[in-house]
Amino acid sequence: MSRLPLLLGGSALAAYLWSRSRTHTSNPSPSTLASTFTGRWVWPVQNYNGRPVAVSDGFNSPRPAVARHGGVDLMFKRNASDAFKPGTSNGTKAFVMPDDIAVVAASDGAVWSAMKTSRGNAIVIEHGPRKVATFYTHLDKLLVTPTSRGQSKQRVRAGDILGTVGFSPLDGEKLKHLHFEVWLGNPSDAIDPELVMKTWEHVGDPRTALVARNGSLTYRPVGESGAYPQWVRDLKGEAGVYLIRDIESHELLYVGSSAGRLYDTLTRHFQAWRRFKGFWRGQYAEGHDPGLTYDRGDVEVAIRLTKPDDSLDEESRLIHRLRPRDNLIGQPAADEAVPF
Ligand SMILES: [Zn+2]
Repeated sequence: MSRLPLLLGGSALAAYLWSRSRTHTSNPSPSTLASTFTGRWVWPVQNYNGRPVAVSDGFNSPRPAVARHGGVDLMFKRNASDAFKPGTSNGTKAFVMPDDIAVVAASDGAVWSAMKTSRGNAIVIEHGPRKVATFYTHLDKLLVTPTSRGQSKQRVRAGDILGTVGFSPLDGEKLKHLHFEVWLGNPSDAIDPELVMKTWEHVGDPRTALVARNGSLTYRPVGESGAYPQWVRDLKGEAGVYLIRDIESHELLYVGSSAGRLYDTLTRHFQAWRRFKGFWRGQYAEGHDPGLTYDRGDVEVAIRLTKPDDSLDEESRLIHRLRPRDNLIGQPAADEAVPF
């Protein structure tokens, strides 16, 4: 069964086609792949508590209703501690998919279509001038502007939110997963996404990052004790900066960063026992000043996610601009011009 008429309609297809040879096979050469997949590419489903998404069913796997599986299905590998029961919308024996997990754009591009189909909400993104498009379906919520034939002219960046993972209305088991395809031209040029996805980046929840990109900082309490809230746990494996301020006076106390261990670096500030054991002594090899610990109930925290390579620059930019009380080094002299 051809997917395209279902999705775009015949004349839309004509507009969508690139002038490509019709002899394209689903086994492109490594040099074709290398020249096509330039720029930043990310797995199209956010990490779940730092756990990267995985392929739960591969390209070309046998299907009863269609000739072949034209893409990959993405879910999270089941952990022993996962509460989701097999046979529910949220899991199988081997994989899980929690509710409200973000689907994100695999690379920069323009939204070609975003609409409801019989298989759930579906999105096509064109990644021109590179001759590649990506297809996402079974979305629960659509968080881009609905459009066809690119009329919305909406552009997205790699990692921007497109919607949330849902299930196909045609699936009797209602199993939540993202169905994802990579097209080197039109849908009949689908390749096995796993040929290229191995080197793609895994990203956190873009809804956390969105706060940062807009320039505003959202401060939230971290709880007086016990388990950290979900948004803190979601920082596992992430890169970025954190700002700690007094919950009552709102005085900024400290700005720190991590190039990939944001959760660990932030939560060290709340481990009061370490205050008495000299834990921080000699721990600041990356150029950080000695860390300080704070009572969790007395502070609130804002996060700005960055690329790993950018976390230190963003930290020093914020220290210079905001002059937190407890950062001891990297502070400009009082008469030094702040270049921001
Ligand atoms: Zn699928």
